Amino acid sequence: MCKLQGPDGILPYNTMNMKNAGAVVTLCLSVLLSAQSTSETALRGFSAASSRVERDWELKYAAIPLPGNVGDYMQRLAARPHHVGSPYDKDNADWILAKLKSWGLDAKIETFEVLFPTPKDRALEMVEPGNFKAKLQEPALAVDPTSSQRNEQLPTYNAYSIDGDVTAPLVYVNNGVPEDYEQLERLGVSVKGAIVISRYGGSWRGIKPKVAAEHGAVGCIIYSDPHEDGYSQGEVFPAGPWRPKDGVQRGSVMDMPVYPGDPLTPGVGATHDAKRLKISEALTITKIPVLPISYADAQPFLAALQGPVAPVAWRGSLPITYRIGPGPAKAHLKVASNWDIQPLYNVMVTIPGATYPDEWIIRGNHHDAWVNGANDPVSGASAELEEMRGLASLLKEGWKPKRTIVYAFWDGEEEGLLGSTEWAEQHAAELSQKAAVYINSDSNSRGYLRMAGSHTLEKFINGVARDVQDPEKNISVWKRLQLERIANSPDRAEVRQRPDLRMEALGSGSDYTVFLDHLAVASLNLGLGGEAGGGIYHSIYDDLYWYKHFDDPDFVYGRALAQTAGIAVMRLADAELLPYDFANFTDTVRRYISELQKLAGKERDDIVERNRQIDEGVFSAIDDPKKPMVPPARQAVPPFLSFAPLENGLAALQREAEHYDKALAHAAAYGGAALARKSLREVNQKLIAMERALMSSEGLPNRDWFKHQIYAPGFYTGYGVKTIPAVRESIEQKQWKQADEQIVRVGKVLENAGEQIQGAVVALEKAGQ
Ligand SMILES: [Zn+2]
Repeated sequence: MCKLQGPDGILPYNTMNMKNAGAVVTLCLSVLLSAQSTSETALRGFSAASSRVERDWELKYAAIPLPGNVGDYMQRLAARPHHVGSPYDKDNADWILAKLKSWGLDAKIETFEVLFPTPKDRALEMVEPGNFKAKLQEPALAVDPTSSQRNEQLPTYNAYSIDGDVTAPLVYVNNGVPEDYEQLERLGVSVKGAIVISRYGGSWRGIKPKVAAEHGAVGCIIYSDPHEDGYSQGEVFPAGPWRPKDGVQRGSVMDMPVYPGDPLTPGVGATHDAKRLKISEALTITKIPVLPISYADAQPFLAALQGPVAPVAWRGSLPITYRIGPGPAKAHLKVASNWDIQPLYNVMVTIPGATYPDEWIIRGNHHDAWVNGANDPVSGASAELEEMRGLASLLKEGWKPKRTIVYAFWDGEEEGLLGSTEWAEQHAAELSQKAAVYINSDSNSRGYLRMAGSHTLEKFINGVARDVQDPEKNISVWKRLQLERIANSPDRAEVRQRPDLRMEALGSGSDYTVFLDHLAVASLNLGLGGEAGGGIYHSIYDDLYWYKHFDDPDFVYGRALAQTAGIAVMRLADAELLPYDFANFTDTVRRYISELQKLAGKERDDIVERNRQIDEGVFSAIDDPKKPMVPPARQAVPPFLSFAPLENGLAALQREAEHYDKALAHAAAYGGAALARKSLREVNQKLIAMERALMSSEGLPNRDWFKHQIYAPGFYTGYGVKTIPAVRESIEQKQWKQADEQIVRVGKVLENAGEQIQGAVVALEKAGQ
């Protein structure tokens, strides 16, 4: 049963319950202790002795979270709609607070005041050629008890759409991303003065009205095509998990790639007395009105379009011929909001550190939802709450984390990462000094471990994942993920050989954004998922009934999240030395630089080839007069870029990463006496400073709130990450001079990071003497 020393380090958590946990812990510990003298290596950042103590506490912890509790919390938190400003949002915050206090934790509510528009007036109708009025309403379903709580449900809308009342011809723009507009230009279709209708997908939703406005559109409709999350995927709700015909995806369209958080208080906490912009001065409110609709509401509009037949890749799954327009369908769109200031209730817990109280490990999940939000976010918030119960119980047993642990249950995530952003902006000075790591989660489902984040933590989180059991298979969540990648990844040879599974970088889309992108705090986003699927995202059907029928009915994956994130927090808080790793980080940065080189080469080759085809007369020769296309315009051939500054920065980084590994191996020798003997405060401070060195105070071009120079959400992807964003986006946007400048700047950032690592090496060697 106890396979702690097995190749995967599997802990038999799924066999434990509160009653037999003690016996299993004793058994595992005896195995651990006997193996310690032979093959067991200490956890990274721990001496051998403290590693054994840590393993002991982690085993105790992992036996505590109970799936039934996760389910009970979900039942309570998702019982009623609980968006920002609603009575049940406050009620939930108070209930979470009381729970935390009942476990003996030091908890409080921290409040902010933010701009949060709610619908006052919404209308969408076809005025030509026929007449059709969109329903804009998700019907209650008899089998689904909470779907009928209409009085408390936010109507279907996009928050932070500007008010507007427009009547104009319609144009179908596919996903509404920049490439789609290039295609429209070839088809000779302009959206100037038109209302665009875009389907969900291809980018974060807020990009669609932004790009539409850049091209002169006056309104934007976003609909859920059944191709993405409706009947094309499977049986629709309530027979199955997928989006029914009247289901609508609500969501924020705030221009978060410029800055997230309260639109009126960029860069500072939205406290009661904060200095606020006027609404008309806020850069992140859309330029044109936007409204989300269901596919039942969208079909008559799309069916009434004429003009060119949509390219194959643009066609969804509705039983119509997808055409682009413009017109003859003409729509009247009206959106007006109540532009009110609403309170946010972040529930915060502090567990003071015994040895390094000024180094903080922060953990968060939001508690607010668009409606009932069983999946998003209650599945994650319930696991986090069960984690808190586990840690509280360890504290009573005498566990003393070395670092300070801060737990957050954020409010206002859905509208624009409001709670986390305002809190972190308010405490920015202190966080810059003290925050070592931020660990986020959000929705949680059945399936595989999803880990993403700062690559200085890649080795660390791989280690944690090896020690958590998958609830359905008798293997660790790490092993299961590795096997999934062997099945599905083109890099299967690497997946088999590389000691650590590669981790995706973080863009945006949840509460880690301010920590990683604005303050350069090493961050992780954790969750399980990939098996459940479904089409209830941001609708009234994301509720307990749906979750229990179609997602994680026994909440065992909720427990797996509580185990994974809880152990990660403990291990980070208890380590003598923060377990950052620079070898995997350097390896990842090398890949990014080589991607940039390929991207620049491809951009250049494409332009050269297209110009050649224009000269050869290719486009006029293949143009079908019955389906005329506009030939592309000649473009200036870009200059070659010099990547030498990035390569020099990388070389410095690699040299210091190797020095650090040697110093760490030296310190960890002989049972890690050097780690145990001295205060490592200075080394830890240097390690934290290395993360900060990855930002530049000027921020990214045209969006200085985003400081991190390795990771950022894309200006035109919204959630999707752009790595080494200043350089990558300059190349994508054909800003060649800016690309050259940014290569120099990021090269310097890498050199600075190398210098910080060198400082850590010196401090570590000194501590070991
Ligand atoms: Zn969420």
